[in-house]
Amino acid sequence: MSPRDQPLDAAVPRRGGDDGGEAYSFGRKFGRDPFTGVCKVCGRGTTDKKPFCLVHVERHDYARETLSRTQALEEEVEEVERGGDPLPRGPLLVEARLLLRAERLLTERAIRAPLGLSSMAAVQRVTRALERLGEVVRSQEGSSWWVLWRGR
Ligand SMILES: [Zn+2]
Repeated sequence: MSPRDQPLDAAVPRRGGDDGGEAYSFGRKFGRDPFTGVCKVCGRGTTDKKPFCLVHVERHDYARETLSRTQALEEEVEEVERGGDPLPRGPLLVEARLLLRAERLLTERAIRAPLGLSSMAAVQRVTRALERLGEVVRSQEGSSWWVLWRGR
């Protein structure tokens, strides 16, 4: 088994496991049980009555952060669909910049779905906001509006 095949948390000692016994008796030698709590995810012993082990507290924080970012984006999408302008540092323009930086040149129609927008009016509120910030140039060709990324 190569290190890449091992689970992410293979290095964390398990209480009573192959490697956990050593850490456990090490703590006991100094008169204190190092594991006073149990991880809510994996059931491994934790110190100081913590509800998550070192591995799962990171996953927990990451999941919460991802969830709140997703919620903030959904809220701003709704706001812009209702006629509001996106915030210069808001999650919708962050997503729009990632898309445009990668693609460089897109029609407004091609931007709509990746940003989770349903109306072209909402797309134009996004591209016009970026234009006002000097990050894109918009130009019309026939019935299509093109958006060229000129930011960094
Ligand atoms: Zn855990």
